[in-house]
Amino acid sequence: MNDRTGHSLLDRRLEVELARIRAADLYRVRRAVSGGHGVDIEVEGRHYVNFCSNDYLGLAADPRPAAAAQRVLARCGTGSGAAALITGYDVEHARLEEALADFLGRPRALLFSSGWAANLGVLRALLGRGDRLIADELNHASLIDGGRLSGAEYVRVLHRDIAGFERALDALGEIGNRDGKDEKWERRTLVVTDSVFSMDGDVADLPSLSQLARAHGAALMVDDAHGFGVLGANGGGAAEHFFPSPSGAGSRSRVPSPDIYIATLGKSLGASGAFVAGSEALIEYLIQRARSWVFSTAPPPAIAAAACESLRVLRAEPERRQRLQDNIRRFHDGARQLGFAAPDTPQSPIANPATPIQPLLLGEAARALALSRALFERGYWVAAIRPPTVPAGTSRLRVTLSATHTAMQIDGLLAALGDALQRLPAAA
Ligand SMILES: *Cc1c(COP(=O)(O)O)cnc(C)c1O
Repeated sequence: MNDRTGHSLLDRRLEVELARIRAADLYRVRRAVSGGHGVDIEVEGRHYVNFCSNDYLGLAADPRPAAAAQRVLARCGTGSGAAALITGYDVEHARLEEALADFLGRPRALLFSSGWAANLGVLRALLGRGDRLIADELNHASLIDGGRLSGAEYVRVLHRDIAGFERALDALGEIGNRDGKDEKWERRTLVVTDSVFSMDGDVADLPSLSQLARAHGAALMVDDAHGFGVLGANGGGAAEHFFPSPSGAGSRSRVPSPDIYIATLGKSLGASGAFVAGSEALIEYLIQRARSWVFSTAPPPAIAAAACESLRVLRAEPERRQRLQDNIRRFHDGARQLGFAAPDTPQSPIANPATPIQPLLLGEAARALALSRALFERGYWVAAIRPPTVPAGTSRLRVTLSATHTAMQIDGLLAALGDALQRLPAAA
C-alpha cells in the first residue's frame, strides 16, 4: 500500500487533512515541560508563569501529596495490576473513596481512572435505547460522547437556557406515549450539565435544574470537574455552593442535590483520576455495569494516596481557596480595564460565583494564537482555545488562576496583555 516515499494511502489522506487544519490556524502542538507542573513551569530551559492549568489550588507540585505517593510507591510499587473487580482494588482506593464520600456528605463514591472514563461509563451504564438525555450544548466533550455512545435520545439545550430544559422535559410525555410505555419507570431521563463550564467559566443554575428534573421524574447528573475543591464554603464544589446541606436538614432550600455527582482528581486536587458520588444503589449499579470501570485497570494506588493527601490539605487549608478568590478578582478587574468583558449570559438570573476560568474572547483563531504567542515570548503561558473546542468566531485565551499565583505574576500578565494587544493587528 506504500508509494515510493513510503507513505501509505492513509498517510497521504491524513497529510491533506493536516494541511487544511494548519491553513485554518487550527493546528495544535505540544510543549514538553520539565520539572513540576505548577505555576512556575520550565520548557526547554526557559521559565514561564503558567496561566492555563487546572491546578487551581496549587497542589499538583505540592510536596505533601508527592510524599504520600512516594510512601505507597516504596511499599507497593507502581501498578494495580488488574481491574478493581479482579485484584486491582487497593486499600488506598478504598480510603480515598471513603474520604471523598465523607467530604461530600454522600453515601458512596467510586473511583475512575479519568473524568472521561467516568462520564462515558456512567452514561452508558444508566442510559440505553429508548431513554433520554437532556444536555447543555456546551457540556464537556466526554459527556457528549458518553451520551451518544449510550444510544439514548439526545436532546441538546441552548447553553444555560432553563426554559429550554423545561420545554425539553415538558415534551417527554408526548414522546413517551408514542408506544404507550410507563413514562417514569420504564424510560429513564437524565438531565446532564457541567457545573462550571470548562471554556467559559460560567456556572449552571443547578437549583433550577434539580427542581425541574425532580418535577418531571428525571435524574440530574452534574460534572463538577472545575467546581470541586474551588466552590462551596468548604471546597465541596458546586454541590456545596448550591446545596449546602446534602441531608436537607435545615438547608437553605429543599431542592435535592444532584443524583449523580462527578468530579475529577486531576484538577483542584492536582492528582489524576475521577470519581462518582451518589447513593448506595447508584454506586453498586455502576460497579456491575459501568464498562469503562469494569474493563479498565484500577489506577495506581500511589495516585489514590496522593489525591487523599491533597483532599486532607484542601480541608485543612481553606486559605488556599481564599487566595484563589483574591487572584480571580485581581485578574478579572485588570482584564476589565483592558476592555475585556465577561461573556454575556442573560438566560440565567442566578448570581454566579467567581470561577478560576477567565476567558478573554478574541474572535478569530489567528488573533487568539498571535496573542498567545506574544505572551509566551514575554514569559507567560496562556493557551489559545480554538475550534473545534469552542464555536467558530469565539476563539479565546483561556486564562486560569491558581491559589499559588502571586499578585506580581498577575499584574505582570495584565501588563504583558495590554502591551501585546496594542501590537496586535486590529480585528478583521
Ligand atoms: C477535564 C474534564 C473532564 C475529563 O476529566 P479527565 O480526568 O481529565 O479525563 C471531564 N469533564 C470536565 C467538565 C472536565 O473539565
